[in-house]
Amino acid sequence: MPELPEVEVVRRGLERHIVGASIDSVDILHPRAIRRHLPGAADLTGQLTGERIASADRRGKYLWLVLEPSTVALVVHLGMSGQMLVQPPELPTEKHLRIRARLDSGLDLRFVDQRTFGGWALAPLVEVDGSLVPDSVAHIARDPLDPRFDLAATVKVVRGKHTEIKRALLDQTVVSGIGNIYADEALWRAQIHGNRLTDRLSGPKIRELLTAAQDVMREALTQGGTSFDALYVNVNGESGYFDRSLSAYGQEDRPCPRCGTAIRREKFMNRSSFSCPKCQPAPRRSPAK
Ligand SMILES: [Zn+2]
Repeated sequence: MPELPEVEVVRRGLERHIVGASIDSVDILHPRAIRRHLPGAADLTGQLTGERIASADRRGKYLWLVLEPSTVALVVHLGMSGQMLVQPPELPTEKHLRIRARLDSGLDLRFVDQRTFGGWALAPLVEVDGSLVPDSVAHIARDPLDPRFDLAATVKVVRGKHTEIKRALLDQTVVSGIGNIYADEALWRAQIHGNRLTDRLSGPKIRELLTAAQDVMREALTQGGTSFDALYVNVNGESGYFDRSLSAYGQEDRPCPRCGTAIRREKFMNRSSFSCPKCQPAPRRSPAK
């Protein structure tokens, strides 16, 4: 599943290669890829045809294109294995090609998705807190890479919760775009166990944690994104960058880069958490449910 830096890499690729182009025609090759667009295939192709791609935008892991003159959003769900490929039309059709849009720039915009958990859907844009977002994204908080992300306000929201700090980091209504990998890496950097309670952490400590999340995501972005999914391919069809520099996530039994203690793996919210037993001691009492 792509995390925020991977989605941002895709967004930048789309911004560079298709913004400004108009959609000449659309072929929907698999109905499952447009199941989120409830009015159906004919409606989607009808609404897209003739529209100009005005911008490629993102919040958290949500990605969308703003279309003109209709000013609706084409929301792109990457799902587990979705790819947005910008290619010359003469290139052979991919085995898992689900949607193909012909652009007036002479290129194809292709949505390829092996498992077809992803897809395209149109959504109206709504204004939330001074920004235009698709209505399906209106409940999502700004992410740590958003230029208008308010660190101080987010620290307050986190402190006001009575929950485990990792749960708060993963809560998309508190701060968006932090998945399991970046949560574990940020917690390791700030030396906090994910089960510690938010209201037992100081403001400066939470600030340090959110800043660590920002840093680790920015670093991943400069490396082209982190992905453990071999199916993930960026906008030009190159393989996603496999980050070898993770300190905690996926590092069970390997030495902590800070102190040498073996990284442990624990269950959390039906997934795995990775942390250093020495740098990130578990809270004494098990937290309230
Ligand atoms: Zn350590």
